[in-house]
Amino acid sequence: MSARSVIPHLAEYEVWFLTGSQDLYGEETLKQVAEQSQQVAALLDGADAVPARIVWKPVVKSRDGIRAAMLEANANEKVIGVIAWMHTFSPAKMWITGLNVLDKPLLHLHTQANVDLPWGEIDFDFMNLNQAAHGDREFGYIETRMSIPRTTVSGHASHTATQERVGTWVRAAAGRHATQNMRVARFGDNMRFVAVTEGDKTEAEIKMGIQINTWSVNELAERVHAQADADIDALVAEYLDEYEVDAELRPGGERAESLRYGAAIELGLRSFLEEGGFTAFTDSFEDLGDLRQLPGLAVQRLMADGYGFGAEGDWKTAVLVRAAAVMGAGLPGGASLMEDYTYHLEPGNELILGAHMLEVNPALSSKKARLTIAELGIGGKEDPVRLVFTADAGPAVVVAMSDMRERFRLVANVVENVELPAPMPKLPVGHAVWKPAPDFTTSTTAWIQAGAAHHTVMSNQIGVEVFRDFATMSEIELLVIDEDTTLTGFAAEMRANAAYYRLAQGL
Ligand code: MN
Repeated sequence: MSARSVIPHLAEYEVWFLTGSQDLYGEETLKQVAEQSQQVAALLDGADAVPARIVWKPVVKSRDGIRAAMLEANANEKVIGVIAWMHTFSPAKMWITGLNVLDKPLLHLHTQANVDLPWGEIDFDFMNLNQAAHGDREFGYIETRMSIPRTTVSGHASHTATQERVGTWVRAAAGRHATQNMRVARFGDNMRFVAVTEGDKTEAEIKMGIQINTWSVNELAERVHAQADADIDALVAEYLDEYEVDAELRPGGERAESLRYGAAIELGLRSFLEEGGFTAFTDSFEDLGDLRQLPGLAVQRLMADGYGFGAEGDWKTAVLVRAAAVMGAGLPGGASLMEDYTYHLEPGNELILGAHMLEVNPALSSKKARLTIAELGIGGKEDPVRLVFTADAGPAVVVAMSDMRERFRLVANVVENVELPAPMPKLPVGHAVWKPAPDFTTSTTAWIQAGAAHHTVMSNQIGVEVFRDFATMSEIELLVIDEDTTLTGFAAEMRANAAYYRLAQGL
């Protein structure tokens, strides 16, 4: 990760651990509740699978205390979510006003302090203290009654499966935090006549908190053209260090000027984003103003540093790339704009080749990328510099966002990136080749039936579960295509969702 990365360290975020009880039990029992809940919180805080800090808060026992704790969590910028656990019985009407004001993601942890029942020793004091088995059921009722979006996790806090499930949710909560604080800069509008990249930017701010606004591409071009030679030299030196740079692009080479121009684009674009507090952006090859190259290398490197990007004005994919970069923080791999491009249709070994004109994140590959230059058939500008590589083989997920008018729909496909069956020496763009789950026909049919876009985010850092939690906490639709998907089941889910999301608008 470079020093200019905008990927947060998730360890700097806090998730508050709230333990529910009531005054009924007396001081001795409440002292035990406090001690044991601190141990549960510490188990999660210490787990490698849980990337944020789990911060224990004093046991809550009253309506006012619960509301105050929730308001405090809302107001604290470091807090990305709240975990609630009812160690004893905590009458749930006490939680109504608190749940009503909480505006951060909620995880309901269903656990207990002990693993084994103390069979020989158990008495009624033990029963009084350890009654999450019904305390959490009481809490679940009020959450459901109030339609509180949340994730329920059940299991002992020392168990790996529980810790991993909590960790997944923490990553999603970091993604939610990222969208709530996201500013997207658009240079130019959507590609002319294209439907799926359109969308309601106001609704995106209502649902996800994202600010999406437009700037003239010539504001960017002016910055690019004002970059100092010394800064350009220094950045080119960095490129020579990091990539296999073609001889013609190196200093003194025939096309060295093209690489220097690529460096100027990076410097201009990065400073624009940094100064404006933007963490995602879009451009459009149809609207490059005075820019002499379509930004390729610069966009690729900015994605590697955690910026979201969507091509052809596609701000929805830019948002997904940024959210995925944050949710995958600290894990090997990356999050990238991807586009389903072309197929290998050998029966039983069908593969999808994904790429873009230029803009694929080199973090998808652990190998040194090649920095090269090639013609771009469209746009009518100079040849752009770009990084060429193949995404690492291994599990990944692709996710698209469509605007269905009364809701945003995410569609996710679980995929497996594969080694190239044969080299592709003439393809001058970064790319990935994958096998979609459950199989080519089901995946592509379901994807198209769902109206899912051709632009996606590909992440090889996180799985579909993180997106599931993210969709839950953002209250947006998610359809998953994975090993369990059948076309009839998928169609039924789409019909049910269409009815649900239309009714959920209110009558
Ligand atoms: Mn495209």
